[in-house]
Amino acid sequence: MAVVGVDFGTLHSKIGVARHRGIDIITNEVSNRATPSLVAFGPKQRAIGESAKTQETSNFKNTIGSLKRLAGRSLNDPDVQKVEKKFINASLVDVQGSVGVEVNFLGERQKFSAVQLNAMYLGKLRDIATSELKTGVTDIVIAVPGWFTDIQRRAILDSAAVAGLNVLRLVNDTTAAALGYGITKSDLPEADAPRHVCFIDVGHSSMSVAIVAFSKGQLVVKSTAYDRHLGGRDIDFALVRHFAEEFKGKYKIDVLSSPKAVFRLAAGCEKLKKVLSANAEAPLNVESIMNDIDASSKLTRDELEGLIADELSRITAPIQRAIEDSGLTVEQIDAVELIGGSTRIPAVRTRIQSCFPNKTLSTTLNQDEAVARGATFTCAMLSPVFRVRDFHINDISHYPIKVQWNATPTDPDEDTELVVFNPGNPIPSTKILSFYRKEPFEIEAVYADPANLPGATNTWLSKFTAKEVPLDASGEAACVKVKTRLNVHGVMSFESAYIETVEEKDEPAPMDVEGQEPQPPKKKRVVKKSEIKFITSNSALEKSILEALREQENSMSANDKLVMDTEDRKNALEEYVYDTRSKLDERYASFVQPEEKSKLLAALQEAEDWLYTEEGEDATKSAYVERLDALKALGDPIAFRHREHEDRQRAIAQLRET
Ligand code: ATP
Ligand code: MG
Repeated sequence: MAVVGVDFGTLHSKIGVARHRGIDIITNEVSNRATPSLVAFGPKQRAIGESAKTQETSNFKNTIGSLKRLAGRSLNDPDVQKVEKKFINASLVDVQGSVGVEVNFLGERQKFSAVQLNAMYLGKLRDIATSELKTGVTDIVIAVPGWFTDIQRRAILDSAAVAGLNVLRLVNDTTAAALGYGITKSDLPEADAPRHVCFIDVGHSSMSVAIVAFSKGQLVVKSTAYDRHLGGRDIDFALVRHFAEEFKGKYKIDVLSSPKAVFRLAAGCEKLKKVLSANAEAPLNVESIMNDIDASSKLTRDELEGLIADELSRITAPIQRAIEDSGLTVEQIDAVELIGGSTRIPAVRTRIQSCFPNKTLSTTLNQDEAVARGATFTCAMLSPVFRVRDFHINDISHYPIKVQWNATPTDPDEDTELVVFNPGNPIPSTKILSFYRKEPFEIEAVYADPANLPGATNTWLSKFTAKEVPLDASGEAACVKVKTRLNVHGVMSFESAYIETVEEKDEPAPMDVEGQEPQPPKKKRVVKKSEIKFITSNSALEKSILEALREQENSMSANDKLVMDTEDRKNALEEYVYDTRSKLDERYASFVQPEEKSKLLAALQEAEDWLYTEEGEDATKSAYVERLDALKALGDPIAFRHREHEDRQRAIAQLRET
């Protein structure tokens, strides 16, 4: 069984696997350690990850990035309309209440939901891990931003299910990084004087801060804070606006009017931004940005900092909030660990530094791979395959969750809501609520603080309906206990409902012992639990829908594979034609009869001509295989004679040597 951890990034994702000697970040089919988080659709097949990146410029309308940002969102969510739309060129549509895309795929307009898109991508990551490990991959840990809500988390879990993956834990990005930090340290203090570390992750689309207390064998997340819209892509976009303005005058073009030009300029700006992290000045060159114009310009680091002043000014707020919520003073924080690509920007570091005046910011973690490593450690701890040093993760929830219900007619003054999980509540955890009821009743779980949710997140989490409630022994309302849980994924659910009845039973009288006073018989309290039937619903997709999506995904994936295999067989046929033809004139020359040769040459010619016909250009895999087999039937005897001769020569040479 494989142990796999994934950092599902907005721009790139990284995959870690556990091996006996430790954790490795693995490379994809083109030997990169980070795989572009992109899914693309073409006339014949999908392209996912690197292959999507390769064709992004030519097929940018059918290429989708920012995948995880779409999880759990509806089309009209302002975050989607005002933010994601800026970064996604495909047309965003509604797919059964969730955001999705409409793309050209297999010659038709087709719609796919965010759950499907994320499933396609996770499936690709699974395939990369499978080909590295040479074994099937099902168990996985996926890192997500700590600010992800219930609906976003359930959407990712649904996507994983569609991809045939079993998520052992959705771990928060910074918690994963913290685990990677703690588990490798052998010098952690006792729990009464923990080491406090502030983790700061500035990625492509968001910023996360977590203050974590480390002691022997455990980490405790003390506080977290986020800016959900602050990352490298916002910086790139500020540069796009700047150069678009400049090019209006310089080249008389309106870049912002052309999505393709924006896309090209954004790619140039990202490159420029990275160069400016190490240099005081850098050039910008964008070939044929629009109207066949090659645009160029340059920027200094100081100018960059001016252009992104707004983004920079927002860096300190989440850090200060996290410090405040942790109850610690800045002096009590022992170390500051930077992760995420955008912490490489010197001005970002300066802002972070300003929150910790006397501390050296550290990058002891690999800032690009810390989250993937931590996710993999998490998977290793949860999987029976490896024995990992025991390290306890005490994570916390971010949004307050309350339950609400209708008052009973007999007690109209009863409270009708209760906050069950406050921010900072441990994950996982269980809470038991008591309701005095004699009739069927319903409870709903909702987010208690809608203003702090991302975009226009629906506050509704889950509903509980008890259909039948038995009366208690005296005919009164029974005390129904409802067990609620925030699980390891940070997802809330109603777990069980039961009635407790207490019976007093006589304990068997103790034996009379000589010389002792006889004891009176004791009463023993026996608590009997009887389960109550209930139904519950939440934002996860129904099993039957998941099953249908999974089948659809499997067939698309099988089609992709068939298209790839077909292409591969076509190439093999083509190669055989050219290769055999040249060999017939050279190394095979003395092993072939003239008649045999002309027959084979004619067959090769015929195959080549066919490859250039419309039919041969786009045939089935079996058609290519059949043609190749037919050619080999003629060519193999010649190749065999040649090989036999070579073997003989070698044997003779060897004999001479000895
Ligand atoms: P998120 O965590 O927000 O989902 P992610 O995990 O994909 O996104 P990272 O890989 O941490 O993001 O960081 C990617 C961002 O870092 C990109 O915007 C990239 O341009 C930026 N980046 C990478 N290297 C540098 C550099 N040397 N200078 C400036 N920015 C950089
Ligand atoms: Mg990240």
